[in-house]
Amino acid sequence: MRHANISIFIPNNGCKNQCSFCNQKNITGILRQPTISEVKEIVDNAAYSINRDKFNDSEIAFFGGSFTAIDREYMVELLKLASMYVSKGTFNGIRISTRPDEITPEVLDILKKYRVSAIELGAQSMNDDVLLHNKRGHTRKDVILASKLVKQYGFSLGLQMMTGLYSSNSDMDYKTGKDIVMLNPDTVRIYPTVIMKGTYLAELYDNLEYIPMSFDETVDLCCKLILLFKENNIPIIRLGLHDSKSLRDNMIAGTWHPSFNEICQSRLILNKILLIIKEGRFSKGDIVLNVNPKLVSKVVGQKRKNLKTLLELGYNVILNQDSSLLEDDIMIKGCG
Ligand code: SF4
Repeated sequence: MRHANISIFIPNNGCKNQCSFCNQKNITGILRQPTISEVKEIVDNAAYSINRDKFNDSEIAFFGGSFTAIDREYMVELLKLASMYVSKGTFNGIRISTRPDEITPEVLDILKKYRVSAIELGAQSMNDDVLLHNKRGHTRKDVILASKLVKQYGFSLGLQMMTGLYSSNSDMDYKTGKDIVMLNPDTVRIYPTVIMKGTYLAELYDNLEYIPMSFDETVDLCCKLILLFKENNIPIIRLGLHDSKSLRDNMIAGTWHPSFNEICQSRLILNKILLIIKEGRFSKGDIVLNVNPKLVSKVVGQKRKNLKTLLELGYNVILNQDSSLLEDDIMIKGCG
């Protein structure tokens, strides 16, 4: 079953503070909150154009800010409209994203009433110092309490985390991943930090007070997080920010690539090949890699990076496609 979100951006007019990395105008290119009739038009168009054969599970998703902190009347109007489509069966549910400290039983009662199915909380880090240094305005405890409450109410819980924030490092970010696992969310999103124009991070970066995590270190860390969440059966529904013109126009530094997920998947395959080589004590020179055709692009890597790395290590790869192998199986034979 394939899933589609009809994403509607509600900008951060409800935010009490400005997080170090956030300049939402630059991320979404939108500042004004859409009117109810504008939202209706977006949903109507999506309902008309969605390919039901391809996507048989679809949600209306209110993203981009602190949904439960926006003007209450406006929030209820948006929910009333969205729940009408869910009642008619046009969409399967409603997904919202918000801050952990904007979750209360009163708010959850409203969300339940209007048939919200999934709530995503921007945890970003589970380290109080990192949260403080990045002006998040909430604590680790807020994330824990909100997550428990969301689950108690029977919503699907999503947790979002960031890597490479100001005053964090790989070990601290991995620990955040482990703390998130303990909260047992239904989904996670991982966003490597990108420095956008007009943010506090941009100021720190200009003053040389913040050096972003390198691309390679971020890939290594995200590979570890992918394995961590996989071992714990928690689906990662997004890795890296979505591509957009305003993102490209406003990005100063940090880790971003339109195919970031593929790059990480490819690195994981390289690590697996290296492990097989080590365990099988293969001698340097030509080696034959038998893989399922679906795995070939990941084995080769972006711009043939994996094959080049293996060559630098002394292994000249001869790729052999074998449809009888499982999709993630790799068999290696030495030559000569
Ligand atoms: S809470 Fe979210 S929308 Fe608001 S400033 Fe922070 S990151 Fe931006």
